[in-house]
Formats: sequence, C-alpha cells, structure tokens
Amino acid sequence: MTIETDVAVVGAGAAGLAAARELKAAGVNHVVLEAKPEIGGRTFCDQTTFGFPYDIGGFWLYDDNDNVFIEAARELGLDIGDTAFPWPDMPMILGDVWETSSQLEERLAHNEAAMAALAGFARSGPDRTVAEVIQTDSPWLPVLASWMGMLKGRRIETVSAADSANRPGGFAFRQVREGMGNLIRDWADTENVHVNTPVRAIDWSAKGVALDTGRDTVSAKTAILTASVGVLASDTIHYARPLLARVREALDCLPMGTVNRIAVQFDGDVFGEACPPMFGRFVSPDRYIYVMTRLVGENVALGYVGNDLALALEDQPDDVAVDLLCDALDLAIGHDVRSRIKAVLCTRWHADPWTLGAYAEALPGGSWARKALHEPWDNRVFVAGEATSLTQFSQVQGAANEGIRAARAAIAV
Ligand SMILES: Cc1cc2nc3c(=O)[nH]c(=O)nc-3n(C[C@H](O)[C@H](O)[C@H](O)COP(=O)(O)OP(=O)(O)OC[C@H]3O[C@@H](n4cnc5c(N)ncnc54)[C@H](O)[C@@H]3O)c2cc1C
Repeated sequence: MTIETDVAVVGAGAAGLAAARELKAAGVNHVVLEAKPEIGGRTFCDQTTFGFPYDIGGFWLYDDNDNVFIEAARELGLDIGDTAFPWPDMPMILGDVWETSSQLEERLAHNEAAMAALAGFARSGPDRTVAEVIQTDSPWLPVLASWMGMLKGRRIETVSAADSANRPGGFAFRQVREGMGNLIRDWADTENVHVNTPVRAIDWSAKGVALDTGRDTVSAKTAILTASVGVLASDTIHYARPLLARVREALDCLPMGTVNRIAVQFDGDVFGEACPPMFGRFVSPDRYIYVMTRLVGENVALGYVGNDLALALEDQPDDVAVDLLCDALDLAIGHDVRSRIKAVLCTRWHADPWTLGAYAEALPGGSWARKALHEPWDNRVFVAGEATSLTQFSQVQGAANEGIRAARAAIAV
C-alpha cells in the first residue's frame, strides 16, 4: 500500500514526537514511523519489572531554562520536585575501603581543577581530546576518567574537548517520579504514529521522498530522520542514493557511546542508615561502578557503567553485572544483599538494533558534525535528534528542540 503525506517522520523518540507536535500545530499532514512496538525510544519507561515506572534510558531533566519537558510535566501535574544531584561530591570506595576524608578532599579539588580546565578550553586552537585537556600527574585522574568515560559512554581519550565544552555543566537536575517515558508519552500526540513500522529504505530527490517499510511505501514531500546517528551510519536503512561525503563524514565523527544501567530491586530496605544516596566504587579503569540507592524512594539500587566496561558486560549474563553492583553494595552496607534480590533489569543499549548505543560523542576535531547534519539532503530530508543539538546533545530536551527545528524547516519547504 502507498501512504501519501506531507512529512514522514522516522522515529518516535523525543525528537520525532516533538516534530509531530510541531507539524500538528501547523496543520501539516504527517505520519510518524516507529520501528519498535512502543514509542519513546531512548526514554522508554518499563512499567512492569519493579511495579513502578522505571526509565530504562533518559530520566533526569536538565536545564530548567530551556527544557520543554519541565513545563510539560508541570502542565500534566507530575511530580518533578527539586532534586539535588550529588554526583560531584559523592563518596568513593577505592578498592575495598571507603576513601578517607583527606582523600575525598584531594579528589574533589582535582576534579574541580580538571572541570575548570575543560570548561575553559580555548577553542581558538586545534581541538584536543578531553583526556589531553584534563591531563595531570594526579593519582585521581583514573578515577575521574572512569566517571567521565561512564557519563560519555566512551573513553575520554577518544572524545572532543571542544565539543564537551559546548555543553554547559550543572548538577541541579530534576527527576520525574512518574517516569520520564510516561511524561513524554502523555505529552506526545500519537494520532499519526505507526509503531512496528521500521523504515528499511529511503529514496529522495528535489521532488520528494519515498520510504519503504517492507509493508508499505510512504510517499512524502519531506522526511525527518530522527533515528540515532548510530542507526543512520549503519546499514539499517538502505539509502537509494549515495550520501554526500560531508554527511557521511559527519556521521563518522559522531560515534555512539555506550552507557548502561544495572537496576536491582530488593525485597525490603537493605540499605540502612549509613548507605549514602549515591556513591562510587573504583577498582581499576576496567572495574568501577557508580551507584544510586533508594531510587525514587523505592528499594532499588541503580548501577551506572559506561564505555568498554559497559560493552563487555553486554556480552555477559545479567548475573555478572548484578555481581558488580552487589559487590559495591556489600562494601557500602556491610553485609551480603544477594539473598534479598527481588527483580533485576539490565540495559544493553549497544545491542539495541534501533539505537546501537546510548548517545553520540564527537571525536576530536568533530564537533562541526552536529551542525553539518542540520543541512537538508536535496532540501527534502532533515536529520534531527540528540546528536544534532549543538549544546544539549545526549539530552532529552536537546532531542525535542531538534525535532522542533527540523519540523519548522520541513514546514518551510
Ligand atoms: C542509559 C541512558 C541514560 C540517559 N540519561 C539521560 C538523562 O538522564 N537525561 C537526559 O536528558 N537524557 C538522557 N539520555 C539521553 C536521552 O535519552 C536521549 O538523548 C534522547 O532520548 C534521544 O531522543 P531521540 O529522539 O534523539 O532518539 P531516540 O530516542 O533514539 O528515538 C529514535 C527513534 O527512532 C526509532 N528508529 C530507529 N531506526 C528506525 C527505523 N529505521 N525506522 C523507524 N524507526 C526507527 C527508534 O526505535 C527510536 O524510537 C540517556 C540515554 C541513555 C541511553
């Protein structure tokens, strides 16, 4: 069957759903084609595993000044509170013992200096890696590198300092008690969304765009591609004509990083009073974990891992990742928590064929690529998503803002 429309949006994550809302508001015919059985993409909220909404991807709301979802949450009457984000000064277990207060002081002073160096990185000269810019002889560097590599999903030796400096920091984040994925689902306009509809091939010219879903052909005046840059750079979608060299190069400059979360629910409050709400354990660059306890007030501990460690764990059964988390909890709490485990949810974002990673981080010298992806293909195909945001990349509101940008560009055409 052939479906005729004005704008075909590929992907129903934050960017695609924001584009759809913008198109609807402008009265423009559109369809949203989503490969998965559900909407949300990297903000999908699992409703069943723990008995409360659990976001498997994005769940912190950043940037109060420019975040469409903060206003949306307030309008929907959701509980977003004010959550201090104690990551920067959370305590660490080094090997098997808590760091001393003087070690903590030294480590935080080192981190502050490193962050200041990164924020102040002069962009007039050639780009460098994050590792080069924050390089010191300090013994605390590997600990900080594990933290930054976890957040970015890639080793900091491979990440652009200029690009990192473009994204303002800040740690006063908010958490949606009802689930970020549920917030986005309730905010979205799903009338024209077709789930279980992967786009397999796309052809375009100055006249329009044809998208093949294997079942239907969608014929549109323009298309907005919001699949991750990992998916766009892979052969998941067959491009009927060669991509411009600049587009191909831009995609290559934005490889996906991997960040995964290991969530364990216990049959009661195993944490006790002494257990901090957040802490880290660093054994070596290949063995570390950053932990949140009592997630949204529940008996759930959440472990964060990134880059090589996250990739290695994806190939292992869940038990291996759960052990990494429980080893850290045992040390923090002082007793074995394994017999109290009720449910487990481990993500594998790299293996997810519709994402192929957590989010994109620019290679050194590659921060130009985000803007380059704004250039339409033959004035008909627009690319949008977290990776095309210049300052809010790897964030949900950045993806939504990009969806809105692309929708306006498509409407103009
Ligand atoms: C572990 C993790 C933690 C995160 N934490 C935070 C956080 O706390 N706060 C925050 O702001 N951000 C966070 N993020 C990032 C945030 O989730 C993403 O930046 C944002 O959700 C990306 O939205 P998007 O629309 O660009 O892409 P996506 O959400 O990936 O949407 C793209 C959609 O396209 C679909 N698709 C792909 N290929 C095709 C195809 N061929 N045909 C049809 N459909 C296709 C996909 O299934 C997907 O639904 C996190 C991400 C991860 C993975």
